[in-house]
Amino acid sequence: MKNFGKKFIFITGGVLSSLGKGLTGASIGALLECMGYRVSFLKLDPYLNVDPGTMSPHQHGEVFVTTDGAETDLDLGHYERFTHATLRAENSITAGKLYAQLIEKERKGDFLGSTIQIVPHLTDAIKQAIYNASSSSDFTLVEIGGTVGDIEGLPFIEAIRQMGLYENRSNCLYIHLTYVPYLKMAQELKTKPTQHAVKALSSLGIQPDILICRSEIALSQETKDKISLFTNVQASAIISAPDLETIYELPLYLAEQQLPQVIARCMRLDYKAPALEKWQTIVTTLKTLDKHITVAIVGKYTATQDAYKSLYEALLHAQIATRVKIKIVWVDSEQLTQENHASQLKDSSAIIVPGGFGGRGVEGKIIAVRYARENNIPFLGICLGMQIAVIEFARTMLNLPLAHSTEFMETSQPVIDVMADQKWVTHKGGSMRLGAQTCAIKPATLAHAIYQQSHISERHRHRYEFNSRYADRFAQAGFIISGSDATNNLPEIIEIPGHKHFIACQFHPELQSKPFAPHPLFVSLIQATL
Ligand code: GLN
Repeated sequence: MKNFGKKFIFITGGVLSSLGKGLTGASIGALLECMGYRVSFLKLDPYLNVDPGTMSPHQHGEVFVTTDGAETDLDLGHYERFTHATLRAENSITAGKLYAQLIEKERKGDFLGSTIQIVPHLTDAIKQAIYNASSSSDFTLVEIGGTVGDIEGLPFIEAIRQMGLYENRSNCLYIHLTYVPYLKMAQELKTKPTQHAVKALSSLGIQPDILICRSEIALSQETKDKISLFTNVQASAIISAPDLETIYELPLYLAEQQLPQVIARCMRLDYKAPALEKWQTIVTTLKTLDKHITVAIVGKYTATQDAYKSLYEALLHAQIATRVKIKIVWVDSEQLTQENHASQLKDSSAIIVPGGFGGRGVEGKIIAVRYARENNIPFLGICLGMQIAVIEFARTMLNLPLAHSTEFMETSQPVIDVMADQKWVTHKGGSMRLGAQTCAIKPATLAHAIYQQSHISERHRHRYEFNSRYADRFAQAGFIISGSDATNNLPEIIEIPGHKHFIACQFHPELQSKPFAPHPLFVSLIQATL
């Protein structure tokens, strides 16, 4: 190896947002792992929220929770699914967090005498965040949220420019993701927006080494040559990234265009061919699924697919494990009524009620759970979905008509309630039960058959819990608590025996599912439908 030392790959975006910088970074990380390197990631978000924990899933997509309990951008989910990296709070940083830290230091007097400025104080803090995220890895992939030119993104672009100056330049690689629109009328891919996007980046002092061009169809050599001429990027480093049948094809597609060779050349590394067999197997499996089923997801954020990103991916992983193609129908729980629910749910072989916050659509979810329970339809409840299953059972089977969660209203039958030590919480940000915790599984239960382990670790993000005061009444009616928090004995998995597959959990299993390790709860749900 000619050149070693820590390597940084910076990924920026031009032309427009939502091009898939996260997936691109994750795929490059996957390729580097296949070449034998250890990878880490950092998502830098230029907005002023301290973390995405308080942002609406409608606007911003799901909040991804790391093992250490950080509420992060959903791109961290892509990074973990595509690689073996275990990410933590230091792998997702926002401008808000850095400003808050800087201002706190200023108030404490740490900078006495100096004027605190974007350059160098904020840019130094950004560079420090990059170093913090790079420990124990060969490569750190740093993705800057938003689009080059956004006002709030400027300090981040400036900081990565400085990285190229102070680090050995060949240890820094700049990848710019752009969009090449296809004009139907002209039957042509138009390169002008990409030319402008590269100009915008160059005007901030960064000449990209590699361009990854998103488009509806693949770029021809002629188009690549034209982009090369106008952007000063070698034609071999202009990589086409058209829409693909499955996102898990992206690492292979990039490798086909020799992206690993280009990275090795730019960073002066000996080229090692990536071992891609496992990716090939996944893609072939996904493209040749033989059976088909429909699964209903009954939730509130059904208009924004990104709101349930990890859930969607976990179901895709279950397809790989079971070879069953899943068609998802998104059912808006606010539209679900006593009168219409059967017609909306009757074609689904399984029902999932996922996590969520706030009372809107809760009654519709209760109707969906009752339908699954009474009609022996395989069911999986996740977080709020488990709380709904508890409420439904209490109302229908325990003669507790006022059963509810105190999240939604004051009630004399609070079967779901806030934990005692959280009653006094005044700030909404970061105040939930968060991150990986150990759960003990009861022998001879469905949960045990699924996990085949006595202890598991799963990630949490919630305030409310199953109120143990009611545990005996539930048990007498046959409702089983099959998993409990190993330290505080809080109920974490519930199930109803005699049903084909009725199980729900207080944690978020979807956050740990990977294409190479599909989560057993989703696999068993699909198997139960066959
Ligand atoms: N709103 C519920 C709570 O806070 C459930 C949260 C979730 O589904 N993630 O407990």
